Amino acid sequence: MKYHIDTIPVWDAVKQDCECFLCALETRTEQQEAERFLGASVMEPDIRIQVNRQGFCRNHHRMLFGMGNRLGHALMLESHTAESIRTVSACLNDIKKAAGAASGSILSKYGRSGQAVKKSYEEAVGRLADAAGGCILCEAVHTYMQRCCETVLLLWENDSEFRRQFSGTKGLCLCHLADLLRLAPQVLSSRLVPEFADAVEKLEKPNLDRIQEDISWFIKKFDYRYEAEPWKNSQNAVQRTCNKLRGACLPEDQASSGR
Ligand SMILES: [Zn+2]
Ligand SMILES: [Zn+2]
Repeated sequence: MKYHIDTIPVWDAVKQDCECFLCALETRTEQQEAERFLGASVMEPDIRIQVNRQGFCRNHHRMLFGMGNRLGHALMLESHTAESIRTVSACLNDIKKAAGAASGSILSKYGRSGQAVKKSYEEAVGRLADAAGGCILCEAVHTYMQRCCETVLLLWENDSEFRRQFSGTKGLCLCHLADLLRLAPQVLSSRLVPEFADAVEKLEKPNLDRIQEDISWFIKKFDYRYEAEPWKNSQNAVQRTCNKLRGACLPEDQASSGR
């Protein structure tokens, strides 16, 4: 296969011991992107234009704020706020125009003109919602992860050593499992799609069973009859179960139990 730039990070990720190697890659990418936005790219005109237009979602504002670079964060906020004011003003103008037309028309609720007014009102509100819903960091991570999923599939198709590593992982979170299976028919040759689905099933099912056992054992350990029993693998079962079901959201390196 044609190896491209994404091959190396995917290879590094597949060797990691965690509940989803694509989550590990995503977390690392997200961190690097956040550092980039707070760092040199603050001054790059192209990036500033995109940030001004899209902004960041609340999760990523929380992340950027936690990184402690208040000046970098403030510089992006200043020009994004200016752009947001322009967008909000234009939307409110259109919303008021449409609302005024609706109240002034007898036909507003029933007639064709009423439908047109309703449409332009909703369009303007939609533009306002879009302005509040964008995130350049989410988009950057999503685009990169799509490419990485393609790379996983291409490596799985062409490299037997990668196949071996893949089937030796602890499986994937359900989100990345769905991402890979959604892409598989577009990336793999069609005869390999059932084989891939089969390989994924063989990988994922025992790992979901393992998670189920761990969380059940964790619960048992709260029963006094099991107090003297060992924790086995269950001390961080709460985090690993959340991460497996919904993608990495909790650190796996701490015990869940306060006991
Ligand atoms: Zn994942
Ligand atoms: Zn975001």
